[in-house]
Order: sequence, then structure tokens, then C-alpha cells
Amino acid sequence: MTLAPRSLHGKLVAALVVLIGAIGVSSVILTLGTTRMYLEEVNQKLHRSLAESLVADSDLVRGTTINHAALEKAFRSLMIVNPAIEVYLLDAKGAILAFSAPPGKVRRTHIGLAPVAAFLKGGEAFPIRGEDPRDPAGYKVFSVAPVMDGGVLSGYLYVVLGGQAYDSVVRVFQGSYILRLAAGVAAAGLVLALAAGALSFVWLTRRPRRLSAALEAFKKSDFQEPLRLEGWRPSPHGDEVDNLGLTVESMSRRMVRQIAQLRQADSARRDMVANISHDLRTPLTSLQGYLETVLMKGGDLAPERREHYIELALKHCQRLGQLTEELFELAKLESDRPPMHIESFSLEELAQDVVQKFRLEAEKRGITLDMQIPGDASAVAGDIALIERVLENLIENALRYTPAGGRICVSLIHGDGQVAAQITDTGRGIEHAELPHIFERFYRVEKARGDAAEGAGLGLAIVRRILQLHDSAIEVESEPGVGTSFRFALPASG
Ligand code: ADP
Repeated sequence: MTLAPRSLHGKLVAALVVLIGAIGVSSVILTLGTTRMYLEEVNQKLHRSLAESLVADSDLVRGTTINHAALEKAFRSLMIVNPAIEVYLLDAKGAILAFSAPPGKVRRTHIGLAPVAAFLKGGEAFPIRGEDPRDPAGYKVFSVAPVMDGGVLSGYLYVVLGGQAYDSVVRVFQGSYILRLAAGVAAAGLVLALAAGALSFVWLTRRPRRLSAALEAFKKSDFQEPLRLEGWRPSPHGDEVDNLGLTVESMSRRMVRQIAQLRQADSARRDMVANISHDLRTPLTSLQGYLETVLMKGGDLAPERREHYIELALKHCQRLGQLTEELFELAKLESDRPPMHIESFSLEELAQDVVQKFRLEAEKRGITLDMQIPGDASAVAGDIALIERVLENLIENALRYTPAGGRICVSLIHGDGQVAAQITDTGRGIEHAELPHIFERFYRVEKARGDAAEGAGLGLAIVRRILQLHDSAIEVESEPGVGTSFRFALPASG
């Protein structure tokens, strides 16, 4: 796996490098600074009473004169024990009177007495740094004791501890094998932590990487193929990335479905516009043709012929009217809130009324129209006007597609808390391949359009939509040449 700088893994590793680097540098600075202070503290505590013992042992000042011999002796003995120690004799105001450091190196003439007072007061937190006589800007740990002469303070013995040995942290570090070893071990630890971090990031970024690759594939498929995250299943132990993956996966499925639906709706809309314009144009052209003929031929036309033409024009006019009415009806039913009034009514009575309405038409066509109803007339719940429309459409179709001598039977069947209505005919039947499509808008088995006797192909679409609004469905069984049977059920209402 490569570490692309713009990958999530690359960024995490870069952040880890910066973090570990910052931890490393700050811990080095902290450790060295603390070590130096600790050394100073130990040094100052160890030599806390050094100045005091020196003053007690030797008679350094007598009145206003310095006992140079005693001072020289004290300097020398100290130099032997620890060459890093410098001894200064100060007067009561802090002015340097004498010192043990090599001549020319001392750069201050006075030493500030505030740290001296703090030291003598005791109880202060060590280390206490005093002014370094060798460095006008420097401070060092020290030991100090007042020099008294006959009960009067005549000055201080100011002992600078450690010389220049602890001046810089770098020197502290360079001078200590233990510190160097510890720093090495710490550095190795940090490098190991960095390597372990980089490896764990490979593992942690595995799922975001997979998700990103799957999304890329989804994009490449032009949002046609939904995301497939193998083995990415809902689990109570899943984290945010798992949830993200599952959500994106289901979103992609929905997107694919909706894109397909949109495409389908778009093509259905185009088909519908084409069908409507065709269905409107055909009767309009015929209507215009007949009316023009009547107008042109005028008195030359035999009265029966003239009447026939006007009758045909009227038929096409009615067909146009029926078509626009059905279109309007379907549009109303397909709106978000179709007007519906659910009530309890007797399906038997309604079916009888509708059958009665078509009895004359059936007789005219030489078709027997029968009814089979059980004795107990239980009520159903629904919109009576819409269910009437369903029965009308189904009986109308049965009449339209059943030849003379055929039979249509409307039967009602009770059971399972519902009442089913079945309209069976002995008509021409429907090819099995056509069955799934007959409920589509404008679908007709015979594709030729324009015959004024034919329906517009909206009747069954209206039936299906009305039953859908009643949470019901329409079922169809048909055998070509034998007959067709439509069936739907409504809930009984007590
Ligand atoms: P149409 O107005 O053309 O009758 P429908 O939506 O009512 O439109 O019906 C769609 C198609 O289903 C019809 O064109 C017809 O071919 C077929 N169909 C409907 N009912 C019957 C039936 N009872 N017998 C045979 N075919 C039928």
C-alpha cells in the first residue's frame, strides 16, 4: 500500500509524525530543563552550609580590613576540593571586595542582595539563583553566609556553586551518559510508536477506502449499479463508519430505483402525450371530414346519407367527449388527494343497479347478462360512486369484447371478512403475454386506434386506480377464445 499524501491514511500518518515530533521535542526540552534544575537544586542543597562553615572556620574580616591570608587559604583549600567553586567576599551592600576566580574574568562589581536575603531566610524553594559575577546577565546557584564582626554585619561570603558546568542544557546532556541513553531509548520508542500508528491507520482506514472505491464504482456505473459492500452488515458492534457504509448503500439502492422510476415516468409521460394527441386527432379529423362533406355537398346529398354523416360526426364527438372525461377522471384519481367518500353500502344492490343499466345494451348485442348473488346482503366499505365506475367499466369491457351469443355473469362471493365481485364473460379472451399490460394507461391489445366503437384504453387503468385507493387489487384470469374473468374484493363493513 502506497502512502499517497492526499489519502486519508497519508494525512493521518503526517499528523502522527507532527504529533510524535512535537511530543519528542517538548519532552527533550522538558527533561533537560528539569534535569538541569534538579542538578542545581541538589548542588545547592548539598553546599547549603558551605559558606557558613567557611566563615566559621576562618577569620576573614577583622573590623574594616580583610584578612587576606585567611581568605587566600580558604580559596586555595576550596579550589583543591572543587575547582568549579568560586568564592567572593562582599561588603554589606553587595560590592565585591575579593574573589577566588582568575583575574579578568569577573565582570560585575556588585551582587544583588535579594537572592542572598532569600537564601538566608531559608524555606524558599531551591534552587535559588543569584547573580553570576562572571556574567553580567547570568545567574547561578550559590551558598552564602553573613560575615560578622563583633556582632555587626560587615559583609557576606558568596560562594558560586558548580562554576560553568551546568550553564547550558546541551552541555548537561553531552556530559551525561545516562541522559544520552535515556534519550536514545525514548527516540526508539517514539519511532516504534510512529510505525505502530502508521500500521494501525492502514487497518483503520480500510473501510473508508473500501467505501470510497465502491462510491467511485457507483459513479462510474452512471448511478445505475447500486453500491455493494460485501460483508458490511448491521451489527450492534458497528461504529460510525459501519453506519455510514450501510446508509450510503441503502441510499444508493434508493437512488438507482428512483432514477429508474424517473426514466420510466418520463417515457410514460412522452407516450401518454403521443397517445392523447393521437386519440384526440383521429376522431377530430373524422368529425371534420364528415361535417365538411355535409357542408360542401349541401342539397346534393340524399337526406339518409346526410343523416348518416351527421350521426357519424356525432359518434366521434361523443368519443372525444368520453376520452376527455376519462382523462380528467384518471388525472383526478391520480392526484395526491383524490376526492373520496368512504361509506357503508350494499354491493349487491349496487351491482344489481349497474347490471340493470346495461341490460338493454346486452340485449341489443345478443349477449346474456346474468347475476349470481348470495342471499345475505352484507355491506361493504368504500366510495359508492367510484365502485359503481369500476363495475361499469368491467361490464362495458365484457360487452365490448364478447361476441353475440355470449354470456356475461356478475357474481358476488362472501368470505374472509370481505365481499368479492367477479365479472366473467365468454368473450374473445386476452393473450397471456398481454395480461400484465392491460391495466396500463392507453394500453389496448389491438393497436389500431380510432374506431369510434373502441374504448380509449383508460377503462382498466381507472379501475385499478380506484381499487388501489380502496387498498384493494384487481385480478384477472383469461383464456384466449374462451373468456375473461375480473375479480376484486372490498372489506365487509359489519
Ligand atoms: P379499452 O378502452 O380499450 O377497453 P381498457 O383499459 O378498458 O381499454 O382495456 C384494455 C385492453 O384490455 C382492451 O383494449 C382489451 O384488449 C383488453 N380487455 C379488457 N377487458 C377485456 C375483456 N373482458 N375481454 C377481452 N379483452 C379485454
